[in-house]
Amino acid sequence: MGALLRFSGFGEIGAGPLARLTLSRLRFVGRTVLDFALPPRCPVCFAPTDAHHAVCGICWGRMPLIAEPVCAVTGAPLPLPSPNGAISPAALAKPPRYRRARAAALYHGPARTLIQGLKYADRHDCAVPMAAWMARAGCGLLKEADLIVPVPLHWRRQLARRFNQSAVLADRLGRVAEKPVAHDVLLRKRATRQQVGLTAAQRSTNVSGAFIVKQSAKNRVEGRTVLLIDDVVTTGATIDACVKAMLRSGAAHVDVLSFARVVQGEEITI
Ligand SMILES: [Zn+2]
Repeated sequence: MGALLRFSGFGEIGAGPLARLTLSRLRFVGRTVLDFALPPRCPVCFAPTDAHHAVCGICWGRMPLIAEPVCAVTGAPLPLPSPNGAISPAALAKPPRYRRARAAALYHGPARTLIQGLKYADRHDCAVPMAAWMARAGCGLLKEADLIVPVPLHWRRQLARRFNQSAVLADRLGRVAEKPVAHDVLLRKRATRQQVGLTAAQRSTNVSGAFIVKQSAKNRVEGRTVLLIDDVVTTGATIDACVKAMLRSGAAHVDVLSFARVVQGEEITI
């Protein structure tokens, strides 16, 4: 049961919703069997491909992957030429609580399609290429991490959605990097409004104080380097609230790895 709970990212729910959890697990198994029974298709555009979970050449070419140079702190793209280790004016003006953040892609086109497929359409096949790109973008962060922690959903939203997309990505990254993944350390203690349609200031207020480190798990965080995993970082309000909770509980450093990020000035429609 413990393994089942961890696998599904339901560490905090307990035995109550067991029937729904089992149903969710069966759906996942069914999807996995179908994935391999059907001919391989691109998870973005469904064009036939040579391998399962591989993005086709056209979508690969359109994928807005973030390339060097990036801000050494926030991971935001910097204009060419920029020296190695350069820090963006935004990070200098308002240093974030986290130590370093990296993202694989900008939140556009095929990157956005993958996130929406995983998050809203239960398409776990999207997580395979997403995690592979995250592992590449966050190679240094993964190496230094003592513990990988996904940004949690409130348990009611997780029941409605049946899984936490950040936990799915964290599990994959933990397996690749051979690092422990903790689903039961960081909790979303109150349900927050969905961030869709909120301004940056409203998002910050919405999630302020929403996260805590579980009292009994503080010894797993103290003095450790924690790597927070999220599917997409928009204004950074959710990440900031999570990092604050981790640092309050004694984490030595908190780094952040996401599949995508919204760059300053982009319209937020997540
Ligand atoms: Zn494609």
